[in-house]
Amino acid sequence: MKKKLASIAAIAVMSVSVLAGCTSAPKFETAEGAQKPILIQGPMPIEAEKFAQRLDKVKVEKSGNFVFYKGKLDKYPVIVAKTGKGMENTAAATAIAIEKYDPAAIINQGTSGGHDPSLNVYDIVLGERTVNIGSLKTGHLEEGEGIEPTNWIPMDLMASEGSAGEDPDAEKIRYFEGDENLLAAANAVKGKYTKGKVVEGTIGSADLWNNEVDRINWFHENYETSVEEMEGAAAAQIAGAYDVPFLGIRVLSNNKTNGGKYDPNTAAANQDYVYEVVKQYISEIDGK
Ligand code: SAH
Repeated sequence: MKKKLASIAAIAVMSVSVLAGCTSAPKFETAEGAQKPILIQGPMPIEAEKFAQRLDKVKVEKSGNFVFYKGKLDKYPVIVAKTGKGMENTAAATAIAIEKYDPAAIINQGTSGGHDPSLNVYDIVLGERTVNIGSLKTGHLEEGEGIEPTNWIPMDLMASEGSAGEDPDAEKIRYFEGDENLLAAANAVKGKYTKGKVVEGTIGSADLWNNEVDRINWFHENYETSVEEMEGAAAAQIAGAYDVPFLGIRVLSNNKTNGGKYDPNTAAANQDYVYEVVKQYISEIDGK
């Protein structure tokens, strides 16, 4: 009898540890027991500095062109990174921040241009998915046959280590998924944002500013993009390479599909909302 009880107890202990392994809460502490910071990225000064000013005990560190404002929010370490614009700056700034600061999570935020006509300037898109819309393969045309951008197809540079030009497996769209816990925190404080609506959607990124409405519609239909900007997918790809939870949060500063004029003040509004998201996320960490 005793033996049987002991083995039941052993199974119970095993299943508890298996369960704990499955639910694996994000790791918020380093091996030495220090709290891992949350990293908030913004490309332009108007997209990073407002947030940085709201941190306590800020220390500024630089690496290359990249500026890191290391501070505290509700006593928890938060780093704001001014990455500069575009995919290359963002990828480099993300890798440097991960290597230097070992963040628990990354939020890439800032302005964007609408691809969805139902979204207005000041609305915010939570990146359920982020995608590189500059990663394309052209069709085969000979000299004098012209250029046919609507026939271009997606190219997934992560499909294999072989040639993306030859590999048919690479002819597909690569989406980077937004982290569930970050999305949950962002949804939990949606009601605190009063300047527009907050929706989940797809963020498309490339070193490209589209002003051709037919081309914008083409991305909206083929990639299901809600907005475009120049950084999110680069940060998502590098965060994914290191297995760091990631979310893009983008406010519409313009929307060519419904006449929404560029408004730079949207950048500050987005930071105010992201501040609430980070507070919420921190309160969830503290409760764990
Ligand atoms: N407004 C200035 C500079 C903005 S550069 C100009 O027109 O020159 C683009 C920055 O704004 C990038 O960091 C990008 O992420 C964001 N952005 C906002 N709206 C965009 C759009 N419609 N297309 C691409 N990027 C956009």
